[in-house]
Amino acid sequence: MDFAVSEKMVTVLEMIDEFVDKELIPLEPEFFTCDFKKMVPVLEEKRKMVKKMELWAPNQPIEIGGAGFDLVEHGLISEALGKSPLGHYVFGCQAPDAGNIEILHKYGTDEQKKKYLLPLVDGKIRSCFSMTEVDMPGSNPVMMETTAVKDGDDYVINGHKWYSSAADNSEFAIVMAVTNPTAPTYLQASMIIVPTHTKGFNLVRNIPVMGHAGDDYMSHGEILYQSCRVPQKNLLGPEGQGFVIAQDRLGPGRIHHCMRWLGICKRSFELMCRYANIRKIRPDGRTLASRDIVKQWVAESAAEIQAARLMTLHAAWAIEKYGAKAARDEISMIKYVVANTMQHVIDNAIQVHGGLGMSDDTILSHYYRHERAARIYDGADEVHKLSVAKRLLKKYQD
Ligand SMILES: Cc1cc2nc3c(=O)[nH]c(=O)nc-3n(C[C@H](O)[C@H](O)[C@H](O)COP(=O)(O)OP(=O)(O)OC[C@H]3O[C@@H](n4cnc5c(N)ncnc54)[C@H](O)[C@@H]3O)c2cc1C
Repeated sequence: MDFAVSEKMVTVLEMIDEFVDKELIPLEPEFFTCDFKKMVPVLEEKRKMVKKMELWAPNQPIEIGGAGFDLVEHGLISEALGKSPLGHYVFGCQAPDAGNIEILHKYGTDEQKKKYLLPLVDGKIRSCFSMTEVDMPGSNPVMMETTAVKDGDDYVINGHKWYSSAADNSEFAIVMAVTNPTAPTYLQASMIIVPTHTKGFNLVRNIPVMGHAGDDYMSHGEILYQSCRVPQKNLLGPEGQGFVIAQDRLGPGRIHHCMRWLGICKRSFELMCRYANIRKIRPDGRTLASRDIVKQWVAESAAEIQAARLMTLHAAWAIEKYGAKAARDEISMIKYVVANTMQHVIDNAIQVHGGLGMSDDTILSHYYRHERAARIYDGADEVHKLSVAKRLLKKYQD
C-alpha cells in the first residue's frame, strides 16, 4: 500500500496552498461582513487567475472544460481549498453546482448540455438542487409532495421546497418531483430542469440559518413552485429515475464535502496550536500549551483528523475502483465520522481561544455556525448509521 502523493499533486497542492493564503484568506474579513453579491466582482478576478493556472473545475473532465483530476486527487484538492470558505467557489467546484454538473454530464441531452452544462462548468451561471420539502422528511425523500403533471408538451410543477442552497441568483434549479405516482415508490420521482425566471418559480426567502440569511451563492432558498410550467424536454434523465440519479450525485459529492471539512479541521487545528503556544496564562510566561488538558485536545484532535482523512481517501479510492454502490458503507461511514470530527475539532479550537473563539475576530465562529449543518445535510448522522448497521447486522445473520 502506497500512501505517497504523486509529484504532480505535490506541485498542484503547493500552488493551491499559496493561492489560498495569498489571494483568498485576506478577503475573508470582508466576506464575513458584507453581502456575498458585493464580493462577486472581486471573486471573478480570482476565478480568472485560477483559470490561468489551469486548475479551474478540478473535478470535471477536460472535455467539458474542467481540469480532469480523479476523485482521490480532487479529494486532496478539496482539502486544500477547504481551508478558506471561498476556496471551492473560486476554483469552480462549489456545491451544489459540482453535483449538478456531474448529473447533467451523465444524463443531459445535447441541448441541455449546451444550454445548462457548459455555462455552468465555465462559471458563467449558477444552479441549485431542489429536493427537500418543508412539510416532508428529507431523511425519507420518497415521501415527496411536489408533483410534476404532464399537460400538453409541458410539466406543471407544484410544491413547497426549502434548503435549495444557493437558489438566490441561480439560473436554474434541478427539481425533484413526483411524475409517476402509481409506480413503485423508488420509481415515482424525476429530475426536471426549471429555469428560475419561469413563471411560478417563487423564491419566498433566503432562510435565516444560525442568525444569518445570507444572499446569492451563500444562501439557502425556500421556494414555492406554483403551477410552474416547463417543457417536457427539461426532464433530466429517464422519467421515474430521480432517486437513482440522486444517488449518483451523492457518492462523489460526499468525498468532496468530507475533504473540504478536513481542510476546515486542518485550519482550526493550526489556529488552536498556534494560539495555545502564545497565550500566556501564568505570570512566569507559561502558555496554554503547557497545560495537560490542552495537550490532550491537541493529541486527540490530531489523531481524529488523521483517522477521518485516511477513511475518506480510502472511500474515494474505493469509489474509483469498485463504484459508489459497492462503496456505500465507506461513503456512509465517512459522512458521520468526518462531520463529527470537524465539529469536535472546531469546538476544541474555540475552547482554547476562550472569548476570542466566540468572537468573529477569527474564522472559528464562522465555522461553528456554518458547519454544524454537516451532520444534517446529505443524510443526517442517524440515517447513515442505521443503513450501515442494517447491512453489517445482515452480514452476521446465521
Ligand atoms: C445548510 C443546509 C443545506 C442544505 N442544502 C440542500 C440543498 O441544496 N438541496 C436540498 O434539496 N436539500 C438541502 N438541505 C436539506 C437536507 O438535505 C435535509 O435537511 C436533510 O436531508 C434532513 O431532512 P429534514 O431536514 O427534513 O429532517 P427530517 O428528515 O425531518 O429529520 C429530522 C431529524 O430526525 C432524525 N432522523 C430522521 N430520520 C431518522 C431515522 N430513520 N432514524 C433516526 N433518526 C432519524 C435525524 O436526526 C434528523 O436530523 C440542506 C440542509 C441544510 C441544513
